[in-house]
This record gives sequence, C-alpha cells and structure tokens, in this order.
Amino acid sequence: MDNKCIFCKDIFPLDYQNISDEPKYWTFVHDIKPICDFHCNVILKKEVSWKEHICDLWDEKIPDDVLSELGIVLNKSVIAIKKSSEKIKRVNIVSLNSWSKSKHLHFHLIPIFEGEDVKKINDINTDWWGLSFLSRKEIVQDTLDEFINQTCWELSSDILTSIEIATKKRVSNNVILLKKYFSI
Ligand SMILES: [Zn+2]
Repeated sequence: MDNKCIFCKDIFPLDYQNISDEPKYWTFVHDIKPICDFHCNVILKKEVSWKEHICDLWDEKIPDDVLSELGIVLNKSVIAIKKSSEKIKRVNIVSLNSWSKSKHLHFHLIPIFEGEDVKKINDINTDWWGLSFLSRKEIVQDTLDEFINQTCWELSSDILTSIEIATKKRVSNNVILLKKYFSI
C-alpha cells in the first residue's frame, strides 16, 4: 500500500468507473480521463499485498495464480470492450509503468476505432508510431489542464468544469454497457 498512489487509495475505484471487482486479483475499470470511449484499465488490486509496488511483469515475486488470472481478465475485458461498440476494430493493451509517477502495476486497454488514423504526437520516424500513439494518453492527460489554464485564462475554470462533467457522464454510460458484456 502506498498512500500517494491513486490506485492504493480507499476511494479507488470510483463507483461510476467500476466495471468489475469480481476477479480475485484484478480490477477492471473505465479510465476516468479517457483518451476515447471505452478506454479501460486492468489494475492489480491494492489488497494484493506485497511490501512495495509491483511495477512490472518481470518482477519475479508475482505469484503464478495472479499472472494466470491476468490473462483471463485481459481476454474477458477486451471481449467486453469490443462488444460495446461495433466501431471498435481492435484493442491495444499497454503498460506504461515505466513512468516515474506510475508504479502500481496496471494496463491500459485502448480501443482503436474504425477509420481512426494512428495518432502521432511527434512527426518522428514512422517506425515509432506505436510508441508515440500509446504514450499519447499519459502526455496529454498530464498537460491538458495546464495547457487550458495557460491559453484560456479566465475562461479556463468553466472549460475544465465542462470537460469534467461531460467526461463523467460519458464514462458512466460506457460502464453500463461494459458491465453488461463483462463476465468471468
Ligand atoms: Zn498503489
């Protein structure tokens, strides 16, 4: 347990984002700052207690049954996400735990929609498009509020509040669908 970690806090997961607590070791939630509809996370439960955070899959302390269940939960989660929208063509799964603020083992499940161009944050070597796309979430979410504050001045508070309300409503609606399609 780490009090500074959002996933270790007692309030996590928030009711409106929680899809399933049913797995023994993993929680399936909708991201509360999603980059798109049905952007979800599979997160190691805080109750699964080791002395310190498990940061990556290469950690040899992770018991086999935790890993076995991870495979099943990822599979069932991706199935639920795909069933939630006919426009979803595939679901990327990524771990971004290498980031210094992100030490609690979790995975992002990011749908790619029909006709969606792969997004690039930098016009760099095309061989790196996957990494650029998958990193987009962390970079945008970490800087969005600051960007709006610095560009919109006195309007920023209203804009940020509107974004927050709209996002919460959207996540709540998506969670209803995901709950319907998720079973384990
Ligand atoms: Zn944690």
